[in-house]
Amino acid sequence: VVLADAGQDSISPDPGVAVSTSPGSSAKKKVVILGTGWGGMSFLKNLDSTKYDVQVVSPRNYFVFTPLLPSVTSGTVEARSITEPIRRIIRNKDVKFVEAECTKIDGVNKKVLCKDASHLKCKGKEEFELEYDYLVVAVGATSNTFGTKGVEQYCHFLKEIEDAEKIRGRIVDCFETASLPNLTDEDRKRLLHFVIVGGGPTGVEFAAELHDLVHEDLMGLYPYLKDDVSISVLQSGDHILNSFDGRISEYAEQKFSRDGIEVKMGSRVLGVTDEKISFKSKSTGELVEIPYGMIVWSTGIGTRPVIADYMKQIGQTDRRVLATDEWLRVKNADGVYALGDCATVEQRKVAEDISYIFKLADRDGDGYLNVAEFVETMENVKVRYPQIEHYMERQHMKGVLGLLNDAMTKGKDLKLDLDHFSEAICKVDSQMKSGPATAQVAAQQGEYLARSFNHLASDNPDDGPMRIRGSGLHRCKPFCYRHLGQFAPLGGETTAAELPGDWVSIGRSTQWLWYSVYASKQVSWRTRALVMFDWTKRFVFGRDSSR
Ligand code: FAD
Ligand code: MG
Ligand code: MG
Ligand code: MG
Ligand code: MG
Repeated sequence: VVLADAGQDSISPDPGVAVSTSPGSSAKKKVVILGTGWGGMSFLKNLDSTKYDVQVVSPRNYFVFTPLLPSVTSGTVEARSITEPIRRIIRNKDVKFVEAECTKIDGVNKKVLCKDASHLKCKGKEEFELEYDYLVVAVGATSNTFGTKGVEQYCHFLKEIEDAEKIRGRIVDCFETASLPNLTDEDRKRLLHFVIVGGGPTGVEFAAELHDLVHEDLMGLYPYLKDDVSISVLQSGDHILNSFDGRISEYAEQKFSRDGIEVKMGSRVLGVTDEKISFKSKSTGELVEIPYGMIVWSTGIGTRPVIADYMKQIGQTDRRVLATDEWLRVKNADGVYALGDCATVEQRKVAEDISYIFKLADRDGDGYLNVAEFVETMENVKVRYPQIEHYMERQHMKGVLGLLNDAMTKGKDLKLDLDHFSEAICKVDSQMKSGPATAQVAAQQGEYLARSFNHLASDNPDDGPMRIRGSGLHRCKPFCYRHLGQFAPLGGETTAAELPGDWVSIGRSTQWLWYSVYASKQVSWRTRALVMFDWTKRFVFGRDSSR
């Protein structure tokens, strides 16, 4: 049965990469990777670079461990402790790196246009072109300002290492300036009002870090400013951390309120000037203007210009990120793959293929599915439609039999006709998850794509472990995201965690879990040692407050 290929009409027959090097043919296929973040590095690390001619392009010659960026803003961890030079990562690999920014993807001629990203320019030689057979786009995203006036000019973002260092300097600046002799009370209160726009994981973690820095270190050094410091979080929704379990949002809101961090829900920012931020309260419709010393803007992701331009070329307009299929191939493009924050996987719905699936499953052609037919079919199609497996996990059912049980209660019979079959099965589409914009997703996608590339370049790609059972056309399984849980550090050595299986854990012990997970996730022993050293240093001596 070729069930795993239902819906093939919209997908080209080959799952993507063609076989590159059969022994004897010397020309390796050219793979160009754009980006040295989570997606790009995970792909590079898992790729068998002997099988392809690999070239990496990025304006940064290092990888950043972004989950610890908020700790850099407060000086809990030093910037250099969470970066790993790309040249160290590739030193034992047959891979080339150029420090440049890709400014245009030319999908027609299979070329990328690049521009030197350094400050030191070689006149007339800044721009160059690179050809590719396969392009892996992992350029990440920008901060989304929603076109709000003054944000670009006056707010701080928290995306890159430089951003975190600037924030660290600005906090200390605010305290030093507020200590000058001829200020009014009003000036001091303004300078020491820190505003965070966005109550997502990054905004909340930053607010918590800032609160710890102020209360554990700066209060002792600037005791006379004790009553002038305030921290506010402006959130457009009704809760902070709304991508987390409700118990965690609630706990975080209570903890912030105990800590004196003011959370203003339902606030939509209208504009920012050099000294004031104005917003509208959704519930009361009231316009509010408040003075600030520093604003950190963290409200989700926007599109990089190079991606916006490319989306226009391939007709993917009115979108924020590139759409790919489940094999991470960019739709309407040839030989281009995208992963991480700049892309999203558009899974095919079971509903679209339901009659096709039914026809193939009904082996004896009697118009009904019996138990054996149903079970076999589900085992087969769940590879093509990972949402079926998610559904089964969610319902805590024991695999296919649970789903069958569910379907049978609909059909009230041991046989299912098409209507009952589709009624029972199509609800699995509601379990479709397009992965969130996280490092976890980007890293899993990078690893998946590298394994596909390795597999298809192997001598006998048609019968490797990645092959879909019963499939004559697709040689690799579709990508399927596994959510391993998420952390929300809330300050004061307290962390909330959401773990697989509906598990929520909050408190100091979870903070220790956080320390150990993030230490173990470091990309090298060097950064692991540096990060652990920074944590220890902070415990013993506190944070450094020099600007
Ligand atoms: P990135 O990692 O952003 O990498 C993009 C790369 O592309 C960079 O190297 C960049 O220099 C390069 N690039 C940019 N433009 C170009 C161009 N024109 N040409 C070539 N290269 C280019 N996720 C979690 O799962 N857990 C967390 O705890 C977590 N915490 C976070 C905290 C902060 C402060 C931030 C900002 C993010 C956090 N994330 C976290 C999200 C995570 O960092 C992103 O989802 C992840 O980095 C996405 O990976 P990526 O490869 O798509 O992009
Ligand atoms: Mg990347
Ligand atoms: Mg990164
Ligand atoms: Mg994505
Ligand atoms: Mg039948």
